[in-house]
Amino acid sequence: MSKRVKAIFILAVIGCLIALVGCGKDESQDKQDSKGTADSGASQASHKLHIATTFYPMYEFTKQIVKDKAQVDLLIPATVEPHDWDPSPKDIEHIQKSDLLVYNSPEMETWAPNVQKSVSHVEFVQASKGIDLMKSAEEEEGSNLDPHVWLDPVLAEKEVETITQAIVKKDPDNKAFYEKNSEDYLKQLQQLDDLFRTTLADAPKKDIITQHAAFGYLAKEYGLNQVPIAGLEPDQEPSAKRLAELKTFAQKNKINIIYFEEVASPKVAQALADEVGAKAVVLSPLEGLTKKEQEQGLDYIEMMKRNLDALKQSLLK
Ligand SMILES: [Zn+2]
Repeated sequence: MSKRVKAIFILAVIGCLIALVGCGKDESQDKQDSKGTADSGASQASHKLHIATTFYPMYEFTKQIVKDKAQVDLLIPATVEPHDWDPSPKDIEHIQKSDLLVYNSPEMETWAPNVQKSVSHVEFVQASKGIDLMKSAEEEEGSNLDPHVWLDPVLAEKEVETITQAIVKKDPDNKAFYEKNSEDYLKQLQQLDDLFRTTLADAPKKDIITQHAAFGYLAKEYGLNQVPIAGLEPDQEPSAKRLAELKTFAQKNKINIIYFEEVASPKVAQALADEVGAKAVVLSPLEGLTKKEQEQGLDYIEMMKRNLDALKQSLLK
């Protein structure tokens, strides 16, 4: 479906849903302003906050803030690549029944602005708000902004702060609890940032060939040079010319590792690795988790530490 047809489809679905669901929720709850009146506590006391989140890091950041005080759901299954995902009628119904939807940015969840216009009483929390998104250097078609801010621990902290503010505003009774959890998690993210910074500071090599252009912010933060095979979205197949350039680049710079992903298809990255005699190693864009990673109980911080280990294999040698 084209974007336009998709948008019309989504709007039509929403129209039907609103007719079906009606306004079942207590409107007074949502109409409250931010002054935090005393009776807001009374009306919310029995209501557990429902928060829908889009893809894995949005879920993880939110969960770290609310723990079990709110119900947090992941809309996009962890094994599905979120760049390709669009909400089904059931998903839109799910969003309509939530108090908040936490998403990264309209550049990642391109469907979010349309859905937002059409549902009522759901607060859309754009976690990347306030972060200056950059253009991808490799993107030829001009104005595409890079949404992958969650892969930079410093910008991940900003996202956690933005999500925290929105949750506290929605549920001020539990402000102290949310803020304490948020501070604890921010400390962990700061430690992660320190670890990346000190580990990569003296790396003799700086070039990383990645499967898609997901690591622009991380590269900028730690002084690396990302050379992506695909563009901002993993399903953009590189041209023959691009592949030839990459091959030359890899050989000239003695690249020993080509980074690939497991949630999006790694075929092209693995073929390039074969062709230049490099090893193919996983560098996860955290756009999802594989079944195995979920079974191992890996979380954002553990996955990022794995990514750092993967980077060390090519940059510190
Ligand atoms: Zn991506």
